[in-house]
Amino acid sequence: MAEIARRTTDKNNRVMFLIHRKEVLDQAVATFKNQGVNSNLLIAGMVQTLTRKIDKLPEPQLILVDEAHHVLAKSYQRILNKFPNAIVLLFTATPIRTGKRQLDEIADDIIVGQSISKLTKKGFLAPFDYYSIDDIDTQKLKKNSTGDYTNASMDEAVSRKIYGHIVSNYQRLAKNKQAVVYTYSVESAKRIADAFNKTHISAVEVDGTTEDKIRDKYVKQFRDKKIKVLVNVNLFTEGVDLPDVDCVIMARPTKSLALYLQFSMRCLNPRENKKAIIIDHVANWKTFGLPDSDRDWKQAIITTDKNKRKSNNNEPIFAITQCDFCFAVVKASEVKNSKCPICGNPIKVHTAVQQTDDELKLINDRKRLINEILADKVMQNVANKSVKELHTMKELQAYAKLHKYKRGWVFYQAKMKGLIKRK
Ligand SMILES: [Zn+2]
Repeated sequence: MAEIARRTTDKNNRVMFLIHRKEVLDQAVATFKNQGVNSNLLIAGMVQTLTRKIDKLPEPQLILVDEAHHVLAKSYQRILNKFPNAIVLLFTATPIRTGKRQLDEIADDIIVGQSISKLTKKGFLAPFDYYSIDDIDTQKLKKNSTGDYTNASMDEAVSRKIYGHIVSNYQRLAKNKQAVVYTYSVESAKRIADAFNKTHISAVEVDGTTEDKIRDKYVKQFRDKKIKVLVNVNLFTEGVDLPDVDCVIMARPTKSLALYLQFSMRCLNPRENKKAIIIDHVANWKTFGLPDSDRDWKQAIITTDKNKRKSNNNEPIFAITQCDFCFAVVKASEVKNSKCPICGNPIKVHTAVQQTDDELKLINDRKRLINEILADKVMQNVANKSVKELHTMKELQAYAKLHKYKRGWVFYQAKMKGLIKRK
């Protein structure tokens, strides 16, 4: 972002940088300055602050939005609508929202960054082992209006045995590691911290009602390794700088992929010879796979209507399997000679067989698509174009086919381009 901003201010254009957490703002502004962004041409601020003084702001030519999965919120929209001529770049690690509306409502296209497994191979993220201890009856989970689970149903669904299990599995799998626990209620957070302290593992609980001063003190003690375990309720998700976390323990089920990735990836800051440990007590892997499972982000940003989503309910199939001996969740591709790659015991591989069928289907689908492209002039024609360069319905349809976009995308784009009349 800093590099894009630098090149923009070098050409005497103004940049606006939108962020939604104060903790990150100062750090980001310092980075921008270090990278040579002309600060006279930079408007950087928290969304809430900038919305309030929007009428006094000079017009930017470029707007950079951080944590852009929030961009459909009114405060962001107010700013973006005020400057319709600016080029807008949205940055996010999780370009998907839990509700019905997705980012295609305002984004023309998506540029997918490097995958988590690639970043891990290159050393930008730590490798991890993932374990699952099933302490939840997922049948009892009920969704609320935002699409995530209700607190009451999470309380119903989670087994009372979880408290003992969390401590014993931490000792078994992550002994002495700095750990962060994610849970769903203040009460459960307090019980988890108690269970650790009773076993003489220092733990504290923090939640939204914890005073800032006390929270900061705990975070500092955790950084100094005076506290081993930080138990929190929805606090350490995005934008908090909490390095040296080597273990994440999930006691909060979620329907939100963004939350799942924020939880599980909290322990992936790299360090020499580090192997992070993720312990999932609430079966989140069954919904989302592993943190580094491949995801179709292009599909994820497309808004579907409710009925379509129901009829088209193809939950992704992840080629992963669980070891009955050590409870590790591993990729089927890592299972060699039917043995668990973690503990060496025999492991079931029926998921792997299913994967082979899926892979075959995928290869056949791709072959078919390639043949279609070769046979179709319009498809060939749009292959190297950007969305902005598409001018006819036919081109939009070909582009959608090529990128596996749904029909809703074609209609939306056609409407935006005035190819079909708005209602
Ligand atoms: Zn095993």
